[in-house]
Amino acid sequence: MANGGEIKADTCRYEEEEEKNIAAWLLGIKTLQLQPYHLPPLGPQDVKVRIKALGICGSDVHHFKTMRCANFIVKKPMVIGHECAGFIEEIGSEVKSLQVGDRVAMEPGISCGRCSLCKTGSYNLCPEMKFFGSPPTNGSLAHKVVHPANLCFKLPDNVSLEEGAMCEPLSVGVHACRRANVGPETNILIMGSGPIGLVTLLAARAFGAPRIVIADVDVQRLSIAKNLGVDETIQVSTDIKDVAAEVIKIQNAMGSGIDVSFDCVGFDKTMSTALNATRSGGKVCLIGLAKSEMTISLTPAAAREVDVIGIFRYRNTWPLCLDFLKSGKINVKPLITHRFGFSQKEVEDAFETSAQGGSAIKVMFNL
Ligand SMILES: [Zn+2]
Ligand SMILES: [Zn+2]
Repeated sequence: MANGGEIKADTCRYEEEEEKNIAAWLLGIKTLQLQPYHLPPLGPQDVKVRIKALGICGSDVHHFKTMRCANFIVKKPMVIGHECAGFIEEIGSEVKSLQVGDRVAMEPGISCGRCSLCKTGSYNLCPEMKFFGSPPTNGSLAHKVVHPANLCFKLPDNVSLEEGAMCEPLSVGVHACRRANVGPETNILIMGSGPIGLVTLLAARAFGAPRIVIADVDVQRLSIAKNLGVDETIQVSTDIKDVAAEVIKIQNAMGSGIDVSFDCVGFDKTMSTALNATRSGGKVCLIGLAKSEMTISLTPAAAREVDVIGIFRYRNTWPLCLDFLKSGKINVKPLITHRFGFSQKEVEDAFETSAQGGSAIKVMFNL
């Protein structure tokens, strides 16, 4: 403290530097504010990433509208967002895998690496998980973030930053297909033609699924699935009394047994339809979490040995997603329906657009 003047100068420079980093903070219901974000120090295994593309997820919209998502509650201001890609701006002293200037897609969840779930590879189920934009962990809708280098994946030259950001939602579809053992002999039903239903469709096709039927209440969303190459689309109602009739319609559209159904919505009705439509000995994967509780009859499924599989996020999916994008086996570009810049007004407009659903599939920020 001998030279007060010098310390003051340093502090000022530090503050100036930090002021440049702006993030979108969720302060309350439907209240997002661009404010400075002081980053944690760069650890030896960390990188600092200049975020360039970020997609809005259904879970971000839940947080925006209700300050919660499933059991996660936003109790204090939090930076929102988690589907992102950007440039490496700085690397920690021990980072060997990446260099300044590299373009990377970012996996948002930091697991503990020590618990039995982490050690057996199921790190997506780690109870200590710190996940971008899932309370209380700050997200990545910011100019810059600090993240472990091992969760940043270098983009192939022909894969854009936006496509890099799409690895996150695509990962959900890839993980679901792995869990359900989808292959060239697996006929698939997808309930829900929203962002997750559509990435599941793309992933299932890349895994070789020969025939895919998709069901939704919204014709506009079904037409997007049609453009992505789904074999049949079925418009369904929201009335639970229609399940039996719609199951027959779906089975007729498939024309043979449905081996695997993905419920990408998570309502009583969609799950009930999936369970009843799936062939004996088949599988139903529950991906969508629209409701925290469901009331459905499981007995018919039990009597026909239909396995119910839960899907929570993903694990070890980025390398495969990037391979699919690089080879052109998967094209995620048609899912990006809206683009916004990173100003107060545009952030508000982008979240309103995403919350309205309908023709908005993936709303993307270019920062
Ligand atoms: Zn997401
Ligand atoms: Zn763990």
